[in-house]
Amino acid sequence: MIGVTVLGSTGSVGENTLDVLARHADRFRLVAIAANRNAAKLARQIVRFRPAYAALADEGAAPELRALLGAEGRGTRLLAGAGALEELAVLPEVDCVMAAVVGAAGLRSTLAAARAGKRLLVANKESLVMAGPLVIAAVTASGATLLPIDSEHNAIFQCLPPGVRPGVAPPGLRRLLLTASGGPFRDTPAEALAEVTPEAACAHPNWVMGRKISVDSATLMNKGLELIEACLLFGVAPGQVQILVHPQSIVHSLVEYADGSVLAQLGAPDMRTPIAHALGWPERIDSGVEFLDLLKAGRLDFRAPDTVRFPCLALAQAAARAGGLHPVVLNAANEVAVEAFLARRLNFPGIAAVIEAVLERSTGGTIGGLEDVLATDAESRVRARERIVGMSRSAAVRGAHA
Ligand code: NDP
Repeated sequence: MIGVTVLGSTGSVGENTLDVLARHADRFRLVAIAANRNAAKLARQIVRFRPAYAALADEGAAPELRALLGAEGRGTRLLAGAGALEELAVLPEVDCVMAAVVGAAGLRSTLAAARAGKRLLVANKESLVMAGPLVIAAVTASGATLLPIDSEHNAIFQCLPPGVRPGVAPPGLRRLLLTASGGPFRDTPAEALAEVTPEAACAHPNWVMGRKISVDSATLMNKGLELIEACLLFGVAPGQVQILVHPQSIVHSLVEYADGSVLAQLGAPDMRTPIAHALGWPERIDSGVEFLDLLKAGRLDFRAPDTVRFPCLALAQAAARAGGLHPVVLNAANEVAVEAFLARRLNFPGIAAVIEAVLERSTGGTIGGLEDVLATDAESRVRARERIVGMSRSAAVRGAHA
C-alpha cells in the first residue's frame, strides 16, 4: 500500500485526486488530507476516507471542524495552523505527497516533501515559480521523485525519454511547445475587457478549476507561470518554449527533438489523467476519464497568443528571461492583483497594470535561499497592495471630475 498525503484536498485538484485514489483503494492508503478553512468539506472527506490525519491551515476554522465531526472524527488526528501542512508532508508512513494548495501558501509544504525524499506530485505551480531552484536542489539532494501535475508539464514529461532528471534537458531536445486554451476571453475585443466580471473570468470554456487559476487562465498569466515552471522542470531556456493557443485543449503539450520529431500527449481535458499518471507512474492506472474521440473532436487548431490584449503573458516571459527573484515578484503581484479582481476592487486590465508597476520598481536579484524568496514575496505584496489603493484613488478622482 502506498501512503498518500493530499495537501489542498478540498480544492479542484485535491478532489480529483481523491476521486482517483478512491478507484484504487487496493493500492493507495490516504494517510492525510489538508485544506485552509473549508471545515465543512474537509469534514465530509474525513468521514468518507477516514485518513489518519487531517489539518486546516487556518486555526480559526479548527473548532468548526471538531464540532462538525464529533465522534465521527475519533480515528483521525486533527491538526491546525500553517505548519501543520509541513508535518503532514513528511510523515514517515507517507510515500507520496500531492501538493495541490493554491498560491505561495503551498511553498513550505512542497519544499518539506521535497526535502523528505517523497514522491512529490506538484500541482502548486506557484511554489516552482517562486523557488524552483530550491525545490529542484532539495529533490536532487534527498532522492525525491518529482512528477508534474499541471496537464501541460505532465504531457511534456510523458513525451521525454525515461530517466530524465529534474531540471536537466535530455540530449536532442530542441523546444517545448506549451499549449493554452486561450481562456474565456480568447475572442473578446480589447475594449470589452475592462468590463468583464469575476464570474465570467471563472467560467473556463474547457476546464473546471479553482478561482485563482481560472483568472490566471483568463489573463494568460497561467501560461506565463507555466513557461517559468517548464524552464525549471525541464532545464530549458525561455526562448526554447513556444506558446500555442489551442482552443480545443486536447493536445496538452508537445516536445520537439533535434531530428524534427514532435511528440505530443493528447487526451480529454480532465485533470484526473495527469493525476492518475503521476500516482501510478511508471505504470498506467485507470483514471475514470472519458476516452478521447478524435472523430468527434474533428479538428485541432493552433494560433499565436495575443500579448497585446493579454500583457500578463509578456510580463511573465520577461520575468522568465530575467530569472532570479523576478518570477517571485511577478507571482506575488499577480496573487494580490487577482485577489483584488475577484473582490471587485480592480478591473481585469488592472491585473496586468499592477504587476507591471511592481516589476518596474523591483531590483530583482538572485535566489540565495528561502529567506530571499520570502522577503521578496512579502515586499512585492506590499507594493502591489499600495498600487491597487493608488489606482482606485485616481479612478475615484477621475470619476469626480467626469
Ligand atoms: P482551489 O482553489 O480549487 O483549491 C485550493 C486548495 O488549497 C483548497 O484545498 C484550499 O483550502 C487550499 N488552500 C488555500 N489557501 C491555503 C492556505 N493558506 N493554506 C493551506 N491550504 C490552502 O485550487 P485548484 O485546485 O484549482 O489549484 C490548486 C493548485 O493546482 C494551484 O496552484 C493551481 O495553479 C494548480 N493547478 C490547478 C489545476 C486545476 O485544474 N484546478 C490545473 C493545473 C494546476 P480551502 O478549500 O479550505 O480554501
